[in-house]
Amino acid sequence: MADLPELTVQGWGPSGDRVATVAAREGAVSPDDGVLELAPDAGDGLPRAARKLLARELGWTPRPTPPVPVREIRLAPSRLPADVRARFVALLGEDAVLDDRAARLGHAGGKSYLDLLRRRGGDASDAPDAVLLPDGTEQVAALLRTCGDLGVVVVPFGGGTSVVGGLAGTDADDRPVVAVDLRRMADVRALDVPSALVTVGPGMRGPALEEALAPEGLTLGHLPQSWEFATLGGYAATRSAGQSSTGVGRFDDLVAGLTLATPSGVLELGRPPASAAGPDLLGLALGSEGTLGVITELRLRVRPRPRSSHYEGWSFRSWAAGLAALQRLARHDLLPDVVRLSDPDETRVSLRQSGGLGARALRGTLRARRRGDGCLLVVGWEGLPTIVRARRSAASSVLRDGGAVRLGSRVGRSWVRHRFAAPYLRDRLLDNGLLVETLETAATWSALPGVYDAVRRALRGALTGSGRRPLVMTHVSHGYPTGASLYLTVLADRDDDLPIQQWLTAKRAATDALLAAGGTLTHHHGVGVDHRPWLAQEIGPLGVDLLRTVRSRLDPQGICNPGVLLPD
Ligand SMILES: Cc1cc2nc3c(=O)[nH]c(=O)nc-3n(C[C@H](O)[C@H](O)[C@H](O)COP(=O)(O)OP(=O)(O)OC[C@H]3O[C@@H](n4cnc5c(N)ncnc54)[C@H](O)[C@@H]3O)c2cc1C
Repeated sequence: MADLPELTVQGWGPSGDRVATVAAREGAVSPDDGVLELAPDAGDGLPRAARKLLARELGWTPRPTPPVPVREIRLAPSRLPADVRARFVALLGEDAVLDDRAARLGHAGGKSYLDLLRRRGGDASDAPDAVLLPDGTEQVAALLRTCGDLGVVVVPFGGGTSVVGGLAGTDADDRPVVAVDLRRMADVRALDVPSALVTVGPGMRGPALEEALAPEGLTLGHLPQSWEFATLGGYAATRSAGQSSTGVGRFDDLVAGLTLATPSGVLELGRPPASAAGPDLLGLALGSEGTLGVITELRLRVRPRPRSSHYEGWSFRSWAAGLAALQRLARHDLLPDVVRLSDPDETRVSLRQSGGLGARALRGTLRARRRGDGCLLVVGWEGLPTIVRARRSAASSVLRDGGAVRLGSRVGRSWVRHRFAAPYLRDRLLDNGLLVETLETAATWSALPGVYDAVRRALRGALTGSGRRPLVMTHVSHGYPTGASLYLTVLADRDDDLPIQQWLTAKRAATDALLAAGGTLTHHHGVGVDHRPWLAQEIGPLGVDLLRTVRSRLDPQGICNPGVLLPD
């Protein structure tokens, strides 16, 4: 069995060490390069500076809100009938059918704030009745046919990092649910170096693929913040975007083809390098979130590993000036590979966190240049040294013309060091009475400022009161010729009596507001359970009907992840 990093039942796990190990493996930092700035320095596990800052910003009184011990989490007995279990054993082998408590709890839901709140409170009602570990397309196809015949719901399970309730495992007909964990399908199956194509199993994780590609001097270059845990199949099923996606492309762009096993048969989709044989059915599988079947193989575009990379910081006086400069870069095809423009709130917090973006020295630089905190921009270029130099030089002129001041590569190095760290901090915030969640959208350049204002206003309106005031931090995370995405991090004092209701109210207000202002329902997290009430607003009732029709052809019994994506 593949050697998996440990995911705790409650959250991301306590270890800051892993961030250091992964960043070092990636070649971004040396193991002793200070990543352990993350290590807690206050008794409550939070960095002291963060604790002080948040108390001031939020009107929050730190208090211990630990998760219930794992042994106290409530888990209903498995509903899988013995004869059905026996059929699975006959199909997959005894060691591939798990229905013990640890396996079921380990596959309960994903990693959204609501998922974590439920499990921390001892509720594992979203746990599957069993976990199955198939090994290959044929086994998955046979399994789907069997589940269709027996009326068993299938939830494909990659890394379990869904943040939109994609693994909720709900079924209106209350049928037994199995999680189909793809960890045994985590191999490199073929590498076609001249065509720059790699064929992989869906359960493979990014770090393992990068290790396999390194000897050939190749990389996939898809680096979402969940890179340590999420799988390649999960990226395709949710249309993920990574930190360098402005340059490398979203995961959609990296998929040249895939195999989709459905209860009605196996589809081979996508034909590199390009084809005009009718509509591109590959697009149906990308973002299908397990509702059409299981992605059992992916053919991915890879590229030469960058021989040079350069990350640096800039400062704008205002958010509007920063957006205008990014728009200008986009128009001239000069957007860097990494583009992250923080709004004033995110910049202020970054500049005041120990271990943030080089904090004190940076504030000194800004003071010396008679500027306030302003808005931080982190940009990065990756590729051949001459190309990196040329693109950087051209983009720097546009940034300077837009009024930006260069802060230097220390900011960039600090961002690289901390790029996978936030999830670890999130668990500590949850332990101390805080609401912490993220949401994201995208809009055209012309609609973006309105979407930004509307969603922040909605979140503030919903989360302010009883002495509480939320902190809403936003950054542009990916740029396109036509617009950009916004990524929002929300922190607030948790309502200990009604924590789930508190977030549901805020989320509803934010989603209504961003859609009304012209934003998309989701830029890269997907739909899951959380966004499905709004899907018809995004794609129209006819669009929803079309997806339902495709689904009923491929999955007539409706066994494939029925609780997600499509509204009731
Ligand atoms: C801390 C944190 C940071 C994150 N950062 C990012 C980020 O930077 N960018 C980003 O895009 N996302 C991010 N995410 C969200 C998440 O990592 C992505 O949605 C990711 O693509 C999910 O991959 P996974 O393997 O964990 O899938 P899972 O969570 O296991 O599954 C997600 C959905 O896809 C389905 N699915 C999974 N595998 C398959 C398959 N083989 N066939 C069919 N369906 C399948 C599941 O049924 C489910 O509906 C983050 C999440 C967390 C918790």
